[in-house]
Amino acid sequence: MRDVPYRLVVFDMDGVLFDYVSSWKWVHDVMGVDNSQNLKLFREKLIDEEEFIRRDVALWKEINPNVSIDDIAAAFKDMPVIDGLQETMAALRYNDIRSVIVSGGIDIAARKIALAYDFDAYAANTLLTYEDGRLTGEGLLNVDLRDKGRKMREFMQHFGVGKEETVAIGNSFVDVKMFENASLSIAFNPIDEEVTEAADVVLESRNITDLLEYILAPRRG
Ligand SMILES: [Mg+2]
Repeated sequence: MRDVPYRLVVFDMDGVLFDYVSSWKWVHDVMGVDNSQNLKLFREKLIDEEEFIRRDVALWKEINPNVSIDDIAAAFKDMPVIDGLQETMAALRYNDIRSVIVSGGIDIAARKIALAYDFDAYAANTLLTYEDGRLTGEGLLNVDLRDKGRKMREFMQHFGVGKEETVAIGNSFVDVKMFENASLSIAFNPIDEEVTEAADVVLESRNITDLLEYILAPRRG
């Protein structure tokens, strides 16, 4: 009999799978721009997520007016991925547990990780382009940072999995909305108090295989 209670693990990407604070900031660093002013305005709710993306892309266009989706893909060529992901994914698959990514980051990075490590699905945000590949400056919000739980529930429905069978893993306050849909929530290297307080388990680790003892343990209680 199968004694692992979970059937789906929903991963945040930035700061969890992608071993850096954010896939957006990764591109800013590669381009040599500073978006801290935009981040501050977004945190203070003075601009919405669409405007946040618009202003971030505008910074890249200042450096390169013809910046293209290929330039962004090139920036992710040497992207840092958390240690232990290969073993973690193999263990989840061995236990018939599906894995998905729900990220407010850039979908190029999410797709790379999803393909390289054999995730069942992913959702992240898209940079819109003209036909020739140049960025229009607008983004497509496939994952709404105000409620990442919504996209998570779509995946749960798609895979026919209920809250009791679902695990959520994240590192920041935007992931709390995902935790609400899961029966096990893990704050992995948390960066704020909201996510730490909302989580069932708080885990500080440089290797993501450390999640497995919680996910694969027989249900407590
Ligand atoms: Mg994150």
